[in-house]
Amino acid sequence: MTSRSELVEELRWEKFSVLDDGFVCLVDVMGDDSSVVQAARVSYGEGTKKVSDDRTLIRYLLRHRHTTPFEMAEIKILVRVPMDCWRQWIRHRTANVNEYSTRYSIAIDASQTTTPDQWRSQAENNRQGSGDLLSLDEGEKLTASEKEFQDGAKKLYADRLEAGVAREQARKDLPLSTYTEAYWKVDLHNLLHFLSLRMDSHAQQEIRDYATTIGEKIVKPLFPIVWESFVDYRMGGMFLTRLDKEVIKNLSQSSQSSPPFSEEEFLNSQYTDWKELKRCRERDECRQKLVNLGLLSE
Ligand SMILES: Cc1cc2nc3c(=O)[nH]c(=O)nc-3n(C[C@H](O)[C@H](O)[C@H](O)COP(=O)(O)OP(=O)(O)OC[C@H]3O[C@@H](n4cnc5c(N)ncnc54)[C@H](O)[C@@H]3O)c2cc1C
Repeated sequence: MTSRSELVEELRWEKFSVLDDGFVCLVDVMGDDSSVVQAARVSYGEGTKKVSDDRTLIRYLLRHRHTTPFEMAEIKILVRVPMDCWRQWIRHRTANVNEYSTRYSIAIDASQTTTPDQWRSQAENNRQGSGDLLSLDEGEKLTASEKEFQDGAKKLYADRLEAGVAREQARKDLPLSTYTEAYWKVDLHNLLHFLSLRMDSHAQQEIRDYATTIGEKIVKPLFPIVWESFVDYRMGGMFLTRLDKEVIKNLSQSSQSSPPFSEEEFLNSQYTDWKELKRCRERDECRQKLVNLGLLSE
């Protein structure tokens, strides 16, 4: 069986590819599943040993959002990521960051490129999201113009450096597709928060790819019990609001049929305040939850 230190050494510096030229890799880790347990037992005393084993305790802590024991473990990773993704990533303030300096060094000579089959249309029902893929014909044109633009931006940057412009000024027209690199250190609690937001279907696909890689390739092997609980209670869990619960209650009390209920039954049972509204995001979210639960037909 692989020991903990062998596992860490196997993982350390292994570059897990993301997008066309990005990666994430583990630099350091402090703690494991047992660090969470150790911290929790200080709070709860020896008594907890009798009623719960380590796995049960971790699952309880995560389920009930007892978060501080998860702050006792930390990971440090090195990431190579396009600037547009990094701009979202860096909003997570509870991490420690050191980023490659394009004032000090010449910018990384790589831009994230999009293949013809990867262009997504604007989502119709979500102003922030993507819809279906565009046609291959359209994609080919978009990829060709992307290349032309990125080559032009690279040439402009190189020409400025050649002309003696300072690196800090020459970089100003580099596109957001330019890759950057950074060390990112975060405790396990805030990492799980980051993963829950950025692995979610509402997050942009590119940052979801990074978050999923960190989760699956780094957190899962290093913290298997925490990961299992996170998947069960956060990623696979569902939050029902008071309003949602009322709709479910109305549906089950008023409907003559058994689930899955019809759209008409759903609308008849909807929350009173929603009835007047033509478009209602909260109603849409509630509908989706009921579909996921198998209570409503798609
Ligand atoms: C799908 C999606 C869409 C988004 N869209 C936008 C957008 O359109 N525009 C935009 O500007 N941002 C947007 N964001 C960014 C979002 O608003 C958050 O800034 C980002 O997700 C970081 O989350 P956070 O603050 O919880 O994380 P962290 O900064 O890591 O903080 C973790 C937690 O620590 C606590 N905390 C940290 N700092 C403070 C503080 N100073 N005061 C009090 N509590 C603190 C909070 O409880 C916080 O939840 C989006 C994020 C997602 C996931």
